[in-house]
Amino acid sequence: MSQVTRIIPSPPTTLLEFVSAKYPMYLETFKFSNVKNNGKDFAEAFYFDSLISVTDASVSTITNTGAVSWTIRTRRNKILAEGLSGCPKYFTPHDSYGDELFGIFDILIITKMVIEYQQVTKGTLVIACDNDASLNAGTNKEYAVKYNQKYFDLMWAIQDILTNIPITIIAKKVQGHAEKKKLRLNKYEKLNVEMDLKAKQFRSKLENKTVRHNLIHFDASRYSIWIHNRRVSCDIEFSIKSFIHGKNMKIKLHEKGDLLEDAFDLVDWHAIAQASKMLTIGEKLWIAKFTSGFCATASQMRYREIGKTTKKKHKKTIEDEVDNIAPWNDDLCPLCKLTRANTKHVLCCTDSEATNFRTDAFLQLQEWLTIQRTNPVIIQCVIGRLNGSNADTFSSHMMEVSTDPIDLQAAQEQDRIGHTNFLFGRVSRYWKESQRRYFLHMFPTKNYSADAWFKRFICKIYRTIKSIWKYRCDQVHGMELVMTSKREKRP
Ligand SMILES: [Zn+2]
Repeated sequence: MSQVTRIIPSPPTTLLEFVSAKYPMYLETFKFSNVKNNGKDFAEAFYFDSLISVTDASVSTITNTGAVSWTIRTRRNKILAEGLSGCPKYFTPHDSYGDELFGIFDILIITKMVIEYQQVTKGTLVIACDNDASLNAGTNKEYAVKYNQKYFDLMWAIQDILTNIPITIIAKKVQGHAEKKKLRLNKYEKLNVEMDLKAKQFRSKLENKTVRHNLIHFDASRYSIWIHNRRVSCDIEFSIKSFIHGKNMKIKLHEKGDLLEDAFDLVDWHAIAQASKMLTIGEKLWIAKFTSGFCATASQMRYREIGKTTKKKHKKTIEDEVDNIAPWNDDLCPLCKLTRANTKHVLCCTDSEATNFRTDAFLQLQEWLTIQRTNPVIIQCVIGRLNGSNADTFSSHMMEVSTDPIDLQAAQEQDRIGHTNFLFGRVSRYWKESQRRYFLHMFPTKNYSADAWFKRFICKIYRTIKSIWKYRCDQVHGMELVMTSKREKRP
């Protein structure tokens, strides 16, 4: 008779064994982490006092890399656990909100693992972070998260943990970069400075590929949308549209000669998508028509005229001329009468009145940029180039005012993208980086956002070129007919 033997797995003898048996998707979180004494000290400390934890992220929008550092300690500063982590690659660019949120997620994962392994039943953990929005989203289990919110999947995973651990979580705001603002730092601020430094060092290792760490699994199977191994956690619509149409758009713009293929990827398309959310529907439609060359310029009207006459004979009458619906006999610019007019020409027409109007419009842009606390170097370079001649470059104007490599890179990339494309809102992401550094240097105590500035900047460019288009239409058609849609005409 054969003997039946049942193999009973032995219980895990270390924290890591426990994690790999029960939560294998969290193993990667432990790769660059150190939980002292298998979490025994951590668990015991809960019975004496509340514990404190601090996290900070380091993000580069240039290399699109993010890293976090975190620490969990007793109030007497005894280290219970600490770690480093690379942040997930998303379909959209990294930002500090998402990466700081990810740091909080790491703290929660480690805490949950220790609590379960060491069977902790009560306790209090303070989580400190210098990004208020991340802190609020990462510690509030009542927060109702919808799929169209940024990092919805990460927040759902966080809420899963928050609602399933038997300890109290307390959010603690910390001032970021406090070392630049005051002489005496409190406990949290000191740790924040330390975490900031460690996160930076780890990010640099990721960028130099001396370590590899790309944590992408928030949970075993749920909440995930993926495009080519990159997680879609923000702007689902933008991500899907970019994935489907991006390549075709790149080819089309290259074929048209509007934007060379190698310059396409220098444009911050995501910022453009973000900026367009701030526009009215009318503005969005107009931008799409203008940048694609579909607005009713002379060449478009002539093109449509030719199409019309091949279908049926259209005879021009005096009434047509008076009512401004006469056929277009050529595609010359009605203002300078020198060049074939398309939307690009509208932005560089050499007619003296048109040139004066543009100079005024760029002066207004300059004033607006000043009010928006724009890096003066950016203002001088951009306005200098816009008012300059065709022989000018962004680089030549930038070199007059700055030697900073980021500023020079912004100008060089913009030269490759092009001057007209700049006015179409197609801007290098290095402008934002230059502005981010300027804010940090000039206003260290304020939380001015370069992302928000960049969105407003793109919108302002759109509104500036729309005013130039409106001027052109005023001159061609007379004031009252211009920019008045059929809908607006109705009483
Ligand atoms: Zn012209």
